[in-house]
Amino acid sequence: MFILKNAYLVHEDKTVNLLVNLNKVKILTENLEQFDQTDIIDLEGRMVLRGYTDTHMHLDKALIGEKVVNASGTLEEAIKIMSTYKPTMSDQDIYERMKKVIDMAYEHGTRYLRTNIDIDDNIKLRSLDIIHKLRDAYKDKMVIESIAFPQEGFLDNENNFSYLELALKKGADVLGGIPAFDSNPKLHLEKLMELAKKYDVDLDAHIDETDDPKTLTIKDLIRLTKKYNYQGRVTAAHCCSLAANDKKVVDPILKKAKEVELNIVPLPSTNLYLQGRGDTKNIRRGITPIKSIVYDHGINISIGSDNVRDPFNCFGNANPLEAALIAAHGAHMGSTEDFNTLFDAISKNGMKIMHQDFHIENTDFFIVVDAKSPRDAIIGVSPIYGYMENYKFFIK
Ligand SMILES: [Zn+2]
Repeated sequence: MFILKNAYLVHEDKTVNLLVNLNKVKILTENLEQFDQTDIIDLEGRMVLRGYTDTHMHLDKALIGEKVVNASGTLEEAIKIMSTYKPTMSDQDIYERMKKVIDMAYEHGTRYLRTNIDIDDNIKLRSLDIIHKLRDAYKDKMVIESIAFPQEGFLDNENNFSYLELALKKGADVLGGIPAFDSNPKLHLEKLMELAKKYDVDLDAHIDETDDPKTLTIKDLIRLTKKYNYQGRVTAAHCCSLAANDKKVVDPILKKAKEVELNIVPLPSTNLYLQGRGDTKNIRRGITPIKSIVYDHGINISIGSDNVRDPFNCFGNANPLEAALIAAHGAHMGSTEDFNTLFDAISKNGMKIMHQDFHIENTDFFIVVDAKSPRDAIIGVSPIYGYMENYKFFIK
């Protein structure tokens, strides 16, 4: 048994004493004097939460940036060189890189992780089988979800689609998508929506990762979400082209996005690096308009790492606070309200996407951040002070 005194439950906005006893976490209402004082740790108001979320990663590609060089720095080249390199990756190599990044994420406090895994004729289900082994091995410490991701499209290659369906049969948690890189983006999305519905899984797709204002497949995604009655189960990652359009174009789209409970996942580290490559002056940032999405439309956003040291993005430490800090810089977010918004975007909002509860009572794990407010945690990229694992508390 142990008691954490003065624990600030940031998502419930209250400071409490927490009792961990008999595989249970509960908020203590009794006076602390009756307990053995050696069991009490004073957190002095540090933030306690179930953990951070990182709802958009690519663990199968992580940590190969030095070996697989993207000379132009564009998304197109990254996809092309990855396609050639992919079949040469051994199972051992995939396992070790994935595990290393999961451990990095765990160290930084991530407890809910959703990763895209390429599924196609090139790699088949090799990476998926490996992430599922890791998902099972880590199940008492964190929640890992796999997204079966058709990085190379499927409309011109029937095998790719068969593997995608097989991935869902073999327990992939979520279905991914990338309409812009298939021969018919609308059909790509429609086929995915049918497949997601058939296997009762969420759809989490790469949408409009471009500066081209005319590319707005988000509109098709919204229409299909409504048509298939899939409200609250669809996530659109990137949505960069919204940032290339005027408010009068963007607002009606976001209004409809809210109506179908679409989640949006901005990925500032990757998009600051990849977008704006065609601009020679007034270089665009390429980050979806976070403030308008949240403040004007009340849409659920979850910020993620995306690529970690690979041909798509040479940066990354699998640290959600770092992603939030980059978003703060890139999206002009520096007020207390902004930091609270960004903190929710790497925790509570991601839990919503992954259909998880954020309340501390009855949780299987939690973290204590070495900071007392979201502002301090993000600006300081604060390490975690401690964490609960298997109902034991570890101070770092
Ligand atoms: Zn991605």
